[in-house]
Amino acid sequence: MTGNNGIEPDPAMQEVLAAWRILFDKNHIDEIKRLKGYDERVFGLEVEHSLICENEILKLEFHTRPDWTLEIGNIVLNEKMMIHGNDSRLVIRVVNFSENHHFFLDDLRMRHRSSMLTFDVILIPTSGPLGWIKKAVYECIECEHRSEVKQRLAREREAPNLCMPCIKDYAAKNKGEWPPIPPRHFKMIVEDCYYEDIEYLKAVEVLFDSEGNVLKLGEEKFTGVVNDEYVGTLTSGSIHRINARIAVDHLPNRDFVKDTRRMILLKIHSIEDSPFSVSNISETSIEFDHSE
Ligand SMILES: [Zn+2]
Repeated sequence: MTGNNGIEPDPAMQEVLAAWRILFDKNHIDEIKRLKGYDERVFGLEVEHSLICENEILKLEFHTRPDWTLEIGNIVLNEKMMIHGNDSRLVIRVVNFSENHHFFLDDLRMRHRSSMLTFDVILIPTSGPLGWIKKAVYECIECEHRSEVKQRLAREREAPNLCMPCIKDYAAKNKGEWPPIPPRHFKMIVEDCYYEDIEYLKAVEVLFDSEGNVLKLGEEKFTGVVNDEYVGTLTSGSIHRINARIAVDHLPNRDFVKDTRRMILLKIHSIEDSPFSVSNISETSIEFDHSE
């Protein structure tokens, strides 16, 4: 079942693959070796933002298309894990972003979409652990050929358009002609789909003075989502520094396709301890309603 996605690394992808290999070999091999015998657990591997900026290719690609660049990095990372006989899964968590990524949550607008930005926030988990189908597996009802289709979070589930093996089979029997009605009867194989753990939360900006005392809280509550090893680990009211890609989502209880209104969603890439030793948080009255 080769060529489901037809991906042969193009030159840009090959450069990024090579750049990640060098970065991990130089900086993270000891950690990769150490994480042995944890039996299919997911771990975050913290990668300094400065290391990404040192490499011209990673610097360019990570800042223009972070999801794609990280996806390739995660492939390389798990190759390394396999080489070292390790069956747990590692995901890259870039941390300590440079100052020009630091931003204020309340100033976020739609124009910041796709940026990766750093915020100091209070987090309040709201959904509890959930799962979503990240990659769906479909089987053609005619020929049983299987194909995988990547899905998008909180969007309509996508299925294959047509079955190429069925078309080729028809063409071979009909002098190269394509079938008049394209074969497109698929069933999803629920057990073989790839699921990812996620959890929704609210984030409120925290402003500190130079001594690390909480000066005030932000006006707005933003919705965020975390995945993998962060799910189920966050404590309500804890203060963190988060690095998030700014995305858009439909309003709660609305349909993405039918309703054009959008809200900002923080796709939280990594979570760090707060750099401030917060001393007076208990004096700050924080009230959150969980009604949304
Ligand atoms: Zn088929």
